[in-house]
Amino acid sequence: MDTADVSNALAVQENRANMSALLRRHAITPTHQRIQIAQVLFERCEHLSAEQIIGYVNARYAETSKATVYNTLKLFLGKKLIRAIIVDPERIVYDPNITPHHHFYDVVTGSLTDIPVDAIHIGQLPPLPEGRVADGVDVIIRTRPAG
Ligand SMILES: [Zn+2]
Repeated sequence: MDTADVSNALAVQENRANMSALLRRHAITPTHQRIQIAQVLFERCEHLSAEQIIGYVNARYAETSKATVYNTLKLFLGKKLIRAIIVDPERIVYDPNITPHHHFYDVVTGSLTDIPVDAIHIGQLPPLPEGRVADGVDVIIRTRPAG
């Protein structure tokens, strides 16, 4: 191995260690597959669908089943490690950024882009149903090519 390979291998190891620490902080037992799935989500920092995550996880070896990916995403959601954005019932993406923010949704490409929470001012909410408090407001602005 030359120095570049060594530092690469070290970076990968360090990253795995970071991922397993992150999982532990969310009370998730870090198994090999969970670490892999977390790496796909957090290294890319994109909004990925379950199908895309399955594709990335199995890019080198097809070793992780769809069911494992779906179960892991469900676990990550339950532990608030990630959040799901339901663009429409056909399109659910997973967001590793759990801090409050909004999204642009390109209806042509299907891609989502973050909007900082303070870039949108929400004037007034309707009265909430009896006994409920607002848990969050998520805005999705759908965009298409002008003209
Ligand atoms: Zn986002």
